Amino acid sequence: MLEKSHLASSEISQLDVFSTGTVLKAISQMDNLYVNQLIVTDHNGTCIYDTTGSLFGRTLNNAEILTALEMNDVFTWTYQDGSMQSVCATPIVSYGALVGCVYMVENDDELGALIQKQQSNMLTTTLILELSLIIFSLIYSNTNTRRLQRVMASMRIIRGGDYSHRVRMGGNDELTHLADEFNDLVERLNTSEQKRQNFVSDASHELKTPLASIKLLSDSILQNEMDTDTIREFVGDIGNEADRLNRMSQKLLSLSRIESQADGDCEIVFIAPTVERALRMLSATAANNNVTIETDFSGDASILIIEDDLYQIIFNLLENGIKYNRTGGKLCVSLQRNNENAILTVKDSGVGIPEDAISHIFERFYRVDKARSRKTGGAGLGLSIVRNLIERNSGSISVCSIVGEGTTFTVTFPVFDLEDENEVDQLEC
Ligand code: ADP
Repeated sequence: MLEKSHLASSEISQLDVFSTGTVLKAISQMDNLYVNQLIVTDHNGTCIYDTTGSLFGRTLNNAEILTALEMNDVFTWTYQDGSMQSVCATPIVSYGALVGCVYMVENDDELGALIQKQQSNMLTTTLILELSLIIFSLIYSNTNTRRLQRVMASMRIIRGGDYSHRVRMGGNDELTHLADEFNDLVERLNTSEQKRQNFVSDASHELKTPLASIKLLSDSILQNEMDTDTIREFVGDIGNEADRLNRMSQKLLSLSRIESQADGDCEIVFIAPTVERALRMLSATAANNNVTIETDFSGDASILIIEDDLYQIIFNLLENGIKYNRTGGKLCVSLQRNNENAILTVKDSGVGIPEDAISHIFERFYRVDKARSRKTGGAGLGLSIVRNLIERNSGSISVCSIVGEGTTFTVTFPVFDLEDENEVDQLEC
């Protein structure tokens, strides 16, 4: 349209006389100006030519004409109710001076119809999309709500004490992961609850036996006529049972302390001095049982550990090595260093442990030979304490045993060589 308008402007600008007649003549000679309305104004905006004839002689002041009279080309288009209208205006300049402007209007119904069709298509698509979105959101939120309700219902069931219950959740989204985590948590809760129940029943069973003996012995003293020696003997037995109860409760306390205590106060210690300390404490027991002790501390190394824990580990292993030894037997304690590890070996020449019992000896209250353990004052808690202490100090323990020949416990801890003294301040187990 701008091209057509330029063409008309340049044709008119070449006229010697600028009048309605000359303009009409110039325009009628241009055969390719197919527009709906063509207006030519003078430099004041007065219409001197209009193809429709309706505006002739009138001063026009619409925006496009005013812009063109300021020596600018202008093109605008509007679309309304299925009809598209393009408007264009260009100045007519003759010998450098503005003489008027050409103003053209073109209605394009085809384009208007096309736009209208596109518009209604877009509207329909948008409506369909919005509707789908609403339906999808409803379905999605409904499904999610139902799945969440399933988790909540499971929570209520588990709160009621049924730890065997699990949430069943299909799919592979966040809710499925949440359900998996939840099931995992319940599984752990179930295991720890079972452990707690077992512990309570084992502990009460173990405590019941010495208490029953005490009751029986005291009843016998009260109900029977006894001489002083027999009474003394019975009271001695009561004292032994009380000692056993005392030992057991101390071990139980120490077990629960280990399990609940936060880690802390590690020190860098050499193992040999702690072994020597434990051996000093057990020397009388070893002598009573006629057990000879041999030591080899050539491979002593420093490790990072809570010193009390190390003492308790060593003491329990050495005590067992003496308790479950034969009269006249041997107990060998050695320390070796193997690359990054400090290895403590406690080897006895005692009764040994049957193969099927080896996997149980670290369980609470487990005793291979109940009668013998009871006689030696054991409650089946020592090795359970040892394993807990070793694990919380990043060590490991293994056992190998031959019945009738003896047992060897091997404890391994990572060596901690302190190159820089300052590191001690930053240590925390
Ligand atoms: P206890 O207090 O009864 O000794 P422990 O937890 O220390 O409990 O040991 C568990 C069981 O493992 C013992 O009852 C005993 O039967 C067996 N046991 C432990 N150490 C030895 C060993 N050195 N030789 C043979 N049996 C052992």
